[in-house]
Amino acid sequence: MTRTVHIIGAGLAGLSAAVELALRGEAVVVHEATTFAGGRCRSYHDSTLGMTIDNGNHLLLSGNHAALRYLNLLGAAERLVGPTKAEFPFFDLASQEQWTLRINDGRFPSWIFNSGKRVPGTRVLDYLPLTRLLWAGSDRAVGEVVRFTGPLYERLVRPLLLAALNIEPSAGSAALAGAVIRETLATGGAACRPLVAREGLGSALIEPALAFLRERNSPVRLGHQLHRLHASDARVEALDFGGDKVALASDDAVILAVPPYIASALVPGLTVPTEFRAIVNAHFRIEPAPYQPPILGLINSTTEWVFAFPGRVATTISAGDRLLDTPRDALARTIWSEVATATGLPPDLPPWQIVRERRATFAATPEQDALRPSANTRFNNLLLAGDWTNTGLPATIESAIRSGRRAADLVAPP
Ligand SMILES: Cc1cc2nc3c(=O)[nH]c(=O)nc-3n(C[C@H](O)[C@H](O)[C@H](O)COP(=O)(O)OP(=O)(O)OC[C@H]3O[C@@H](n4cnc5c(N)ncnc54)[C@H](O)[C@@H]3O)c2cc1C
Repeated sequence: MTRTVHIIGAGLAGLSAAVELALRGEAVVVHEATTFAGGRCRSYHDSTLGMTIDNGNHLLLSGNHAALRYLNLLGAAERLVGPTKAEFPFFDLASQEQWTLRINDGRFPSWIFNSGKRVPGTRVLDYLPLTRLLWAGSDRAVGEVVRFTGPLYERLVRPLLLAALNIEPSAGSAALAGAVIRETLATGGAACRPLVAREGLGSALIEPALAFLRERNSPVRLGHQLHRLHASDARVEALDFGGDKVALASDDAVILAVPPYIASALVPGLTVPTEFRAIVNAHFRIEPAPYQPPILGLINSTTEWVFAFPGRVATTISAGDRLLDTPRDALARTIWSEVATATGLPPDLPPWQIVRERRATFAATPEQDALRPSANTRFNNLLLAGDWTNTGLPATIESAIRSGRRAADLVAPP
């Protein structure tokens, strides 16, 4: 009899593990508690707007090689779109200045030496201290390693690290910030091209995986929540889904790809991150302005990034915990007035929706980073996956997909 690998959770970590294992001919069953796959990275029909939107705008970079490999396996790489060069337009609400950061391909950062390509108001030498982040110890916060004032910080370091770490950057882990810079800015523009799922996260990252698994007869059981793991000292013996129980054969394996607060409840004694940060997204049903870039960074504003989608303009605010209690309509008005100023769209508030994800990511502090477990557990047939496991990256799509692949490799080496 062939063994079965049970994957708990159909977020990107679980789906990435499932896709890798199905590709290697393993028998896979995915069990998902909710009635939809995708977890924190999903599309849904919003009845207020009367259209399908994403729970949050998700930005990938061309250097996210695990995510791109996953999409290539699924034949869905073209569903992420972006400019052919690493270009990031910005607008400063305070000074009304606009500029485009243009990062050249190749490791030598010639963009820093070109005043038309680097951040306005910065000098070449301002960039040098950023290299300190590349070698920072895992116990250091970004604020202990680099200076937190001046145009380079306000116009590049802060927006980049706030988006990547989802925490006020000075408090963020310098090691995680270093990993982001190493895999993007320090690698050159070819790794920094922004990529977005123009037709939605579901159609780019989730539905192709579900189709891939369907074609390989690997069931994805929605509405099938794991309630308990029954384990002996060394291994998990059975999975309890409330209504039904699955006894595991001696060579069956389990990949637990659920959020950390669920994993620690299922696996007593497991150390996991315990603090989280929110992300606040606003969606407006309106056609983007004619020359609006796909992604626009805003400085000196509540809104941080403005995304242009067909028939919709959407915004992102990271580490948005301070906005969780702000009345929704006040928030929509504030955000829209900033978007209208930056894009030239009319100031009248279009139909809107606010989505606040309270536990969008674990808090990327050095202390929380130190709580991330590796994929192996004390049970020899139980592995962990998820953006919060110890991938060396902040909680991102890339981290989730890498964690799923790592767990798959441990079950069935490629
Ligand atoms: C608003 C927002 C914006 C973001 N923006 C970006 C971005 O721009 N770029 C980027 O790279 N990343 C971004 N992220 C992060 C990214 O979405 C996550 O890193 C990624 O989706 C995490 O995937 P995961 O599989 O690790 O976890 P999850 O998506 O949390 O998946 C866990 C799954 O387990 C299921 N589950 C839970 N308990 C059980 C149980 N008992 N039994 C069975 N199933 C269970 C859950 O329902 C869920 O489907 C953003 C996140 C949010 C919320």
